[in-house]
Amino acid sequence: SMNRDDSHQHKARKRFGQNFLVDHHVINKIIAAIAPKPEQNIIEIGPGHGAITEPILAKCPSLKAVELDRDLIPLLTEKLAGYPDFQIHQGDALKIDFSQFYQAGRAMRIIGNLPYNISTPLIFHLLGFSPQIEDMHFMLQKEVVDRLAASPGDKNYGRLSVMVQYYSSVQPLFSVPSTAFRPVPKVESAIVRLLPYSQPPHPANDLELLTRLVSASFQQRRKTMRNTLKYMLDATQLEQLDIDISLRPQNLSVVDFVHLSNQIGALQ
Ligand code: SAM
Repeated sequence: SMNRDDSHQHKARKRFGQNFLVDHHVINKIIAAIAPKPEQNIIEIGPGHGAITEPILAKCPSLKAVELDRDLIPLLTEKLAGYPDFQIHQGDALKIDFSQFYQAGRAMRIIGNLPYNISTPLIFHLLGFSPQIEDMHFMLQKEVVDRLAASPGDKNYGRLSVMVQYYSSVQPLFSVPSTAFRPVPKVESAIVRLLPYSQPPHPANDLELLTRLVSASFQQRRKTMRNTLKYMLDATQLEQLDIDISLRPQNLSVVDFVHLSNQIGALQ
């Protein structure tokens, strides 16, 4: 658990997005949501001072962790010395090849109270390892969880919703008040569970084209799809599409975007 000595030895660093969890009620709720089991292959991103790490280790002693801040490694190693199977990797989670943690028959469970400045690129990086991941539990800015979970028509629905929902189902779990952290962040947080599909249920023939289409569509979210598509297709091709191009991007579902990108690919 956090004690005074930790904060004297280590000053929270803003550039590493360090807001440490100190509320034991919240910590217990997170552990209950993750429900760690002894033989599972759990990987924690950004263990910090070990607020979540230690209670997970008590249930799953082979937990691994990835931490960027070199100064935290000796503190954590000492604090968690009672868990000989605990492994800590110093490095940048954005650059790590997570397949190194995969073991046949032991899909990865990824957890982390993520640094907010890198949460979106990190989620995309991890989704690249989807077939090897069982699930992910993250603490994120609440606004990001709202965007991840948004449905067509919601004001938060956008590129992040479509692209993440292409790869995984999204379950927002609960909000966490800013007072649960030290230092206290300026924003509210929330816990989300992502369940990556082993195969996307509606696969795009050309993932790069889908990504480009979704980005271009939401760059001008108030314009109609006709406006975005006229840069990709000529007038005759536009007529052959079987979606209503007078719609705005926020009214198209993930399946609509996949279908549209497959049609564009066939026409081009
Ligand atoms: N898990 C701890 C807790 O809940 O109290 C700390 C959470 S703090 C919001 C984010 C942690 O991620 C910090 O320990 C920070 O040093 C670490 N971190 C920041 N950027 C990282 C990166 N690119 N890769 C791995 N860890 C990173």
